[in-house]
Amino acid sequence: MRRRNLWITAIVLSLAGCVPSTRSAELAPVDPATPAAASELADTRWQALRERADAIGWTDETRERFVAALPKIETHLHLDGALSPKTIAALAQDQGYAPLMDRSEAEIAALTVVDTPREDLATVLEAFFTIYPLLHTPEALETVSYDLIANAHEQQIRYLEVRFAPVLQAVPEQGFTIEAVLEAVLAGLERGRRDFGVESAVIVCLFRPLPVEVNATMLEAAIAFKDRGVVGIDLAGDESEVPLTTFADLYRQAGDAGLYRTVHAGEVADSDDLALAVELGVDRIGHARYLDADPALLEEVQRRGIALEINLTSNHRTGAIATLAEHPAKRWFDAGVAINVSTDDPGVFGITLTGEYLLLIQELGFSVGDLIELQRRTIATLFMSEADKRRLEARMLADIEALLDAV
Ligand SMILES: [Zn+2]
Repeated sequence: MRRRNLWITAIVLSLAGCVPSTRSAELAPVDPATPAAASELADTRWQALRERADAIGWTDETRERFVAALPKIETHLHLDGALSPKTIAALAQDQGYAPLMDRSEAEIAALTVVDTPREDLATVLEAFFTIYPLLHTPEALETVSYDLIANAHEQQIRYLEVRFAPVLQAVPEQGFTIEAVLEAVLAGLERGRRDFGVESAVIVCLFRPLPVEVNATMLEAAIAFKDRGVVGIDLAGDESEVPLTTFADLYRQAGDAGLYRTVHAGEVADSDDLALAVELGVDRIGHARYLDADPALLEEVQRRGIALEINLTSNHRTGAIATLAEHPAKRWFDAGVAINVSTDDPGVFGITLTGEYLLLIQELGFSVGDLIELQRRTIATLFMSEADKRRLEARMLADIEALLDAV
């Protein structure tokens, strides 16, 4: 599938990642004072939870309720793809935005929600054109970022990595710089953390259709905000039009600066981006759908512990897979590959993370225990320190144990 050459086309979709785990679940004699011992102890707890969940005789109803309540993590989510029609309607009214301010939520949904498979990514990305004009003020960005956390809380998401290309929201001639965009989003995320207890971090999306120099300014800003909530970079857009090699130097600079790195790659069949991403030593790869066609590269991905950010419905709606069931996620998961699962663009696709998890069960054959294991693998490849991972892991383990106790 080739995509059209709109720069905006490149905008964005995608998602997810996680970590493989092949460690033994045996509880060896350990000294919990050491990080390695604590980690092994945690692995044993994860394995026990997985087995408990898979020993339960679930009905559709009890399973659905459990999945809804399951503590989750989301790693591949685009801020500008997360706006619901309700939020868009409110922003249009607040801003007096003529093209949308008098439209009903249903009318706005018809313009911004892609609820059936489309011919290609470019067609899907048209929805974003409707949304962009509303995201050029600090107030709007603070609000949508706060709403993102409120929605994450409803999905029982404990930690979220949100991505966007701040240059697309900036209006430098009005003093609304890339840095100011980042400030506004981080302020909304922080307000959300205070109100809902959901932690988050920002990934700055480089954007293929934009010149390297423009992307370099986003990388500069990402580095400047490295200790203030920005944790990594991504590259979004149509890889069949502008290859990763164009931005290889920026990826090296980001790595040298200590930023984590993910990249949208392998969304189309005839791209060299997957191989280059591995060569560049990225931490995660978004989509990677066509990794399936290169067993040797898949093996290398697994050997290096590179996580794959899976976005099931997104791949279906953009035509990357013809049916949900053909997605390789379950085979990768069973082979121990570090996958994680996200929504990519929950607003544009009209989906939720809980809904995606249920699709994993219904369409791909994941068990409830597999979804618990998915959390463990996801934590291992988050863009955070080992100490923060252990802290999040302890919280997730305790919450999942309590949830299983209540079944
Ligand atoms: Zn994406």
